[in-house]
Amino acid sequence: MATYKAPRGTNDFIPPQSERMCVILGRMRELFDRYGFRPIETPIFEETELFTRSVGEETDIVSKEMYSFADRKGRSLTLRPEGTASVVRAYVQNNLDHLGLGRLYYVGPMFRYERPQKGRYRQFFQVGVEFLGESGPLADVEVIDLFCHLAESLGLEGLSVELNSVGCPDCRDLYMQKLRRCLEERKPLLCGDCNRRLETNPLRVLDCKVPACQDPLADVPQIVDELCGGCEEHFAETRGGLEALDIPYVLNPRLVRGLDYYTRTAFEVTCRRLGSQSAVGGGGRYDLLVEQLGGKPTPAIGFAIGLERLLMLLGEERLPGEGAAEPLVWVGTSTGEARKAGARLVHSLRRKGWRAQLGYGTGNLGKQMKLANRNGAAATILLGEDELSSGRIAVKHMARGEQLDLGENDIDSQLRQWFGDRP
Ligand code: AMP
Repeated sequence: MATYKAPRGTNDFIPPQSERMCVILGRMRELFDRYGFRPIETPIFEETELFTRSVGEETDIVSKEMYSFADRKGRSLTLRPEGTASVVRAYVQNNLDHLGLGRLYYVGPMFRYERPQKGRYRQFFQVGVEFLGESGPLADVEVIDLFCHLAESLGLEGLSVELNSVGCPDCRDLYMQKLRRCLEERKPLLCGDCNRRLETNPLRVLDCKVPACQDPLADVPQIVDELCGGCEEHFAETRGGLEALDIPYVLNPRLVRGLDYYTRTAFEVTCRRLGSQSAVGGGGRYDLLVEQLGGKPTPAIGFAIGLERLLMLLGEERLPGEGAAEPLVWVGTSTGEARKAGARLVHSLRRKGWRAQLGYGTGNLGKQMKLANRNGAAATILLGEDELSSGRIAVKHMARGEQLDLGENDIDSQLRQWFGDRP
């Protein structure tokens, strides 16, 4: 029994899952680059106030899920629960608008004190995109298109884009009054959480998943019917833009997302196969956040994808177009002397571009061969006393069972003959 365990709600990523994660991220980085998005890294902790002000005091994230702590000087810091606030903070602080850096992406862990379950953790990875400086609906379409393109490039099927508009403060305030009046009448039918949110954040009531609340919420007024002229036009053009690109979506008038900073477009990409935690990712417009955090008024839109959920959906399957792993050359040795020669050999093979590994165990060469097999070697080189004294080294193509005795200088060219040139 291990003495220590990872904290509740956290995961270790071990091979091959950790390797898959690298492949997926590599694929995503290629696409981000194709769309002009460039990487940004921000600290894992920030001043607590950054999140309370941007995400919103009444949201679940801020009111009950933040990992906040006082540092040694008593400053309140928080492990980031999401990426957008930090990126916007960095955008303003580093004057990224002057540098024309409005297309950014990040990858990293986020922290929320949630009740852990399948697909919901206290530390989880997000890959996020932020597109700052564009107010028009084509930017919304481009960002949703990018999300879909990422999913396609990973071979993900069965995803659904859910779309809504949450309006702007003007139309949303009017809508919220109407919604509140309607919900007040249904109070006794709604759960405790809904009753509490009704006072603090009535939009979030729409989000409630409790079965008993679904009937009373079914026919409440919809925000899309209450949008002001500007928001209505933006929403119509966004939908038109998606249709022009043949990107399927479904309208979900109850999609409000859990963070306060959203304006206008809100979207979520879901997959039924994920069960109760069905959202693979989500995002939306946040046209007021940059100004709220001290920058010049700057419209923006972004999304974040949950990497653990993505991994769950992808399972063990190879990604489309994913090649086989590079061939591994295993060097097995039988004595201490041979091991030294083996160490020199892997050193030189690696410099020539081969994935090469020295089996550290000494002893019978049959055992070395087994080790080579277990490690998936494509070729095995066996170095024993005989090989050292004769200078002829046994090199074996594992799949073909073909074995040659070669001088050390001929090994590289033989491997190339078998497996092709190295990059
Ligand atoms: P959000 O920032 O809440 O919109 O989340 C964006 C995406 O991050 C979600 O769609 C999930 O895929 C993922 N996500 C959010 N919270 C968690 C969590 N506690 N555990 C795992 N993934 C999460």
